[in-house]
Amino acid sequence: MTTETRTFCRICQGMCGLVATIEDGRVVKVRGDKDNPLTRGFACSKGLASPEFHYGPKRLLRHQRRRSDGTHEPICFDDAIDLVADRLRPIVARHGPRAVAAYVGTQATCNVIYRPLAIDFLRVLGSPSLFTSMTIDQSAKWVTIGRMGSWLAGRQPLKGADVWLLSGVNPMVSMSGWSGNLPAYDPVKQIKEARRAGLKLIVIDPVRTQTAENADLFLQPLPGHDAAIFAALLNIILREGWHDAPFCAAHVAGLDDLARAVAAFDPALVEARAGIRSGQLLHAATMFARDGRRGCAGGGTGPNMADHSNLAEHLIETLNVVCGRVLRAGEPAPRRPVLNPDRPVRAEVRPARREWETGHRGLTGYGTMFGQMMTATLADEILSDAPGAIRALFCVGANPANALPDQRHAVAALGALDLLVTSDVVWSETARLADVVFAVKQPFERPDHTQFLETLGLELPFAQYTPALVEPPADADVVDDWLVYYALAQRLGVTLDLAGPLDMQVTPTSDALLDRLAGGSTVPLSVVKEHPSGAVFDRPAPLVQPARDGRRDRLTIAPPDVIDEVHRCRADIAAPRTVGGRPATHLLVARRERETMNSFGRDLAGTRKRFPRNPAWIGPADAGSLGVAGGDLVRVIAEHDAIIAEVRIDAAVRPGVVSMSHGWGNLPDATDPLVDGASTSRLVARDRAVQAINAMPRLSAIPIRLERAD
Ligand code: SF4
Repeated sequence: MTTETRTFCRICQGMCGLVATIEDGRVVKVRGDKDNPLTRGFACSKGLASPEFHYGPKRLLRHQRRRSDGTHEPICFDDAIDLVADRLRPIVARHGPRAVAAYVGTQATCNVIYRPLAIDFLRVLGSPSLFTSMTIDQSAKWVTIGRMGSWLAGRQPLKGADVWLLSGVNPMVSMSGWSGNLPAYDPVKQIKEARRAGLKLIVIDPVRTQTAENADLFLQPLPGHDAAIFAALLNIILREGWHDAPFCAAHVAGLDDLARAVAAFDPALVEARAGIRSGQLLHAATMFARDGRRGCAGGGTGPNMADHSNLAEHLIETLNVVCGRVLRAGEPAPRRPVLNPDRPVRAEVRPARREWETGHRGLTGYGTMFGQMMTATLADEILSDAPGAIRALFCVGANPANALPDQRHAVAALGALDLLVTSDVVWSETARLADVVFAVKQPFERPDHTQFLETLGLELPFAQYTPALVEPPADADVVDDWLVYYALAQRLGVTLDLAGPLDMQVTPTSDALLDRLAGGSTVPLSVVKEHPSGAVFDRPAPLVQPARDGRRDRLTIAPPDVIDEVHRCRADIAAPRTVGGRPATHLLVARRERETMNSFGRDLAGTRKRFPRNPAWIGPADAGSLGVAGGDLVRVIAEHDAIIAEVRIDAAVRPGVVSMSHGWGNLPDATDPLVDGASTSRLVARDRAVQAINAMPRLSAIPIRLERAD
């Protein structure tokens, strides 16, 4: 029997509406759902390949335990839970709860039950050792909130904006609007519609990306100069008086200090060092601050992963702040919750908290942000000899053996644990190292709703519920991912909390937990369920409320550590980039491909057809001077490791730059670059260009030498 069911994709935060064709209990095809009012029929190649991923040969169908020789054997769920609980108790008794850690990755993001329940498991154990992909991704955004504070009403939305500036972010491929301060859904259509309505788009990127193709002004600098570029833009704007002086006078602290510090960034000097055309910085500043009245700047992985990343992100947000690009009292608030409770939105400042100075501190000396430890320190927190070092790690929708910086070091750390547990749908690199692997349901086998999407800046009162579409394959022994932590909590005699304490005697259903999460929703979940394609609910936009009486907090744009970083960035602007004492020939930047998201999607047939491996993309001039053609192999040599990659030539990549996607490769000593691709994380050094506060290493703009691999 063939049926069609409406659902939504849960691979990335786009949560695109899908129509799934189901034959004999299997999802055989999906297409974009034109009736979904948010994504209107769009679905990318990853979403459309969901059935292949769902039933692919790497699907994990049984829980596994590791034998002493490193191979795995099947184990039933109850025995696996007993095994983990039995090994966890002595670790906690001997080393304390902080020796138990969790690493939560991006594949737990679009899963409203799993992520909070796994994190709560750590809480009830009493462990502060929570790591997530956020602190190894765009954690500079959290550093900025921690140092500057934030405007509770939020930034001006894309709708109605006349200018937008994107730096090192390619939403037309990543499909994520979040990092560019864009709406959370369908950024391609939204940018195009905004441009048709008159928006001017400025894009700064070392690669002429698909987003750059839509720009009114495109700056193509050498990577790693984002902080200097934004310092120069601020210098022009403050010098010319194009900032919003009344807003700054009322809500900003440190304007004069910042103006003095960025005065050292002469635009002509920055243009020369960054390799951008003369006059482009003045042009960008004019478009954004003098001629543009409404609209924001946003930075992505480029500025957030390259040199001076914390400063770069701070200055991007400072640009928004000094230009007053925030919502004011009386304006319509863009966020209208549906599955979340309604809360007043206020035109006031939440002050800087600098949690890392006062909260829990890890053995590596780094503090926390939003209750999370810094993921770049995870391997060292495991390998430390000090009491309290991490001895057990739970991986939640994550593949740290592939994702953590300096892959050899990370894999050595994972191998040194007393207990490594992961839950996955496929045999990942981490699963192959794990003591216990829980085989869990694929997205189409579990219900879900879009409550999480609302927290990402959704500008429409949209919500959708999806039922489980199919049962797992008949020969599978897989469980709901959240059940792993519920069952472990039962064995350990602790009570989990999900919107209130859970009944630990009677195991709930996923639907009961979804109901529970939506208990305070503005629109009842039962009403949301009446709309299989999701719906935009008729909820008037509330107005931004004035600040509460007595609230006089300010956005601190120039605290001493930021000013210190501005000076260091200025001193660094002419520093040579070297590899092993020799001048770097190129800078390696992170690349987005539509077909993959981190390590997800690399094994799909469509991906492999287009990219049998992750190429090193270089411009034609660099290919000529190196004497290589597309398909040739090159050695990509960084300071402490090297990888082999296949060359592809792309005129969009500027000279001096190599662009590669991450998430490929295999375990370090098992990688065949012609089969697995190359792991760029092996090139990330843990001991240079590391940011204070978040331990963020340089993941992009990495100095490399490129050689033919004859
Ligand atoms: S952009 Fe692609 S992967 Fe992301 S939710 Fe949409 S279809 Fe899924």
